[in-house]
Amino acid sequence: MKNPLILDIKGNSQDDGPGIRSVVFFKGCPLDCVWCHNPESKRVECEISFDANLCVDCGHCREVCPEKAVSKDNPFYVDRDICNLCGLCVKECPSGALDMAGKALGVDEIVKKVIRDKPFFDASKGGVTLSGGEPTLFTEFLGELLKRLKQEGVSTLLETCGLFAWEKFEKLALPWLDAIYFDIKIFDPALHRLHCGTENQVILENFGRLATAGKNSNLSLLPRTPLVPGITDTRQNLESIAGFLQKNGQKKAALLPYNPLWPDKCSKTGQACRVEGDLAMKKWMSREHISQCESVFTERKIELV
Ligand code: SF4
Ligand code: SF4
Repeated sequence: MKNPLILDIKGNSQDDGPGIRSVVFFKGCPLDCVWCHNPESKRVECEISFDANLCVDCGHCREVCPEKAVSKDNPFYVDRDICNLCGLCVKECPSGALDMAGKALGVDEIVKKVIRDKPFFDASKGGVTLSGGEPTLFTEFLGELLKRLKQEGVSTLLETCGLFAWEKFEKLALPWLDAIYFDIKIFDPALHRLHCGTENQVILENFGRLATAGKNSNLSLLPRTPLVPGITDTRQNLESIAGFLQKNGQKKAALLPYNPLWPDKCSKTGQACRVEGDLAMKKWMSREHISQCESVFTERKIELV
């Protein structure tokens, strides 16, 4: 079993599930959402990230790069097509502006890092959240990790885009999960393909299966929809999702308010922002608009949490 790349392990989180949690961010995702808030988590492979705000222009990286991949003339600073990931520039960078995004970690290493906070998990009814990227891209590894966490008495939560092979997931990962936050972003298959890079049939099927599984177990399942201007926040999309949740017997859901700070993150790993010039994408949503979105769910007696 090959170890996946982990982008980060964030301790003391209070935003990714109940209580105090440690969040493990996997690298790699089967979707390609236009508004991805963690663009560095999309590719499965390791890559160089560059934060222009931290750079002090000492020039060390340009001097040491054996491939001449670093240049101030490059709008993304590093030419990822010729970079051989040797890591010399990262080592020489005094300010932390350059970093290697993604480190291969084994189950033991991850458990060792997160278990230090077990007293906080226990005191706050928290635990460990597996996020990404998409952890189910590595179902065997995910299953092993979840099993170990449960053996250590740690509560487990998975954040997923829902695109996974059900049989494998049901056998290897589901038995060790206490909670799942399941994203349903766009209901229309063609629009889902347009904005997220794939169709959503498997995602909706998997949600239905988990809703059924949740009725016969203690699994806590929370559907979540990120609000993205003009893409997911349309009345038609929200009504379709709310209707689908009703059909599947869901009484609770979450709407994730839009955060316009993501476009700046794209350039760190050399990705062009695909909504450049879209002003709505650069603004916070008004409270009034969020309330209108929420009413679509509450009118259907779906409680928003
Ligand atoms: S990782 Fe190596 S090849 Fe890539 S930019 Fe840095 S020094 Fe150059
Ligand atoms: S080594 Fe770091 S701080 Fe110096 S120029 Fe390169 S990125 Fe900037």
